[in-house]
Amino acid sequence: MHQRVLDLLDADAIARDTLAFVQVPSETGAEGPGGEHFAALCERAGLEVDVDRFIADRPNVYARLPGIEPGRPLLLNGHVDTIPRGDSDPPALRDGWVVGRGAEDMKGGLVAMVHAATALRRAGVRLSSDLWLTGVVGHETPVGKKEGPKRLVERIRAGDIPAAAVIIAEGPHAIWTAGLGAAMFRITLSSARGIVHTLHVPYADNPARWAGAILAEFAEWEARFEAEAAHPLCGRQRVDIGLVAGGDYPNRLPTPLTLRGTRRWRHGLTADDIEAELRDICRRIEERSGLEATFSLDAPHEPFETPGDHPLVRALEAAATTATGAPLPRIGLALVTDANIYGNDASLPVVCCGPEYATAHSDHERVSVERLHRTAGLYALAAMEFCGVDE
Ligand SMILES: [Zn+2]
Repeated sequence: MHQRVLDLLDADAIARDTLAFVQVPSETGAEGPGGEHFAALCERAGLEVDVDRFIADRPNVYARLPGIEPGRPLLLNGHVDTIPRGDSDPPALRDGWVVGRGAEDMKGGLVAMVHAATALRRAGVRLSSDLWLTGVVGHETPVGKKEGPKRLVERIRAGDIPAAAVIIAEGPHAIWTAGLGAAMFRITLSSARGIVHTLHVPYADNPARWAGAILAEFAEWEARFEAEAAHPLCGRQRVDIGLVAGGDYPNRLPTPLTLRGTRRWRHGLTADDIEAELRDICRRIEERSGLEATFSLDAPHEPFETPGDHPLVRALEAAATTATGAPLPRIGLALVTDANIYGNDASLPVVCCGPEYATAHSDHERVSVERLHRTAGLYALAAMEFCGVDE
């Protein structure tokens, strides 16, 4: 049965469908045509399709390959929006690659999902429980506010879309089971003196001097994180600074002065702990400097982790071994994905497993047809393993 499903996967058809999907513009905020295109692909595959127009012209799509009992439904997921096309290579099919914005991130993976479901249907596989294919909007920040993933979580929690586990078609061709928590933060230091000549302000009261104190404290945090036990898959937690901004002239007081960066935190901590940490450093700086120190933590994502012995992980491992003869590695990354949302807000076991993660967001985005073909096989067999098959 497994071989019959794999034999029904057609690499050329996957390549053609991915190219056609990449040719449909679907930049975040205007991704409607991408959602409609994905819905049409699912309909062509003979699935029951629900187009959720919860925002005008930006639909989520949920397509169901019905199983024969409630059992243990599996949800495959991807986002239909892309970052702006910008100067990216124009869509093309070249030397075994589909080229263009969205090819790898993540239209190729969505097409692989559809071909997996098509192969299961054509092979006459009767899954014991439902297989859902879901395409969501609003993933790519800063335009996207995770509207689509959050809406899907609502539908899952309402029981409209029963799901026992999620596979996201994102990331390297590996079983990505864990991620750190992450959020961007901002600390702003302001002097009540306003923007005046620096001659009138002692250096000890200069916001830049206290920005230095914060950066020095971050160096201490980093030394502490370095000394902690690292997560075996995701590595250690960290604090990074990407932007220090303030001042407009060499002898004018730099107020306000802003530090912005990323905080990635380990399992066991929550965004509340990170907020408390920032509140604490701001309070101490205020006490010592007489400045006002405020902070914000933007779009926090809590850590996620699916245990290595979970049936979802086992299903993907077995599928990889059956499809290619070789197991897939289990990995963790310190990157934020929608797994952080489905894992925490919907309390579902979730794993990311994409065709590849090498060119996403670059101007030379592309995805290998051979890899898409393999990924479609992996999804089909994983669905059989996880949902069960009525022989
Ligand atoms: Zn992306």
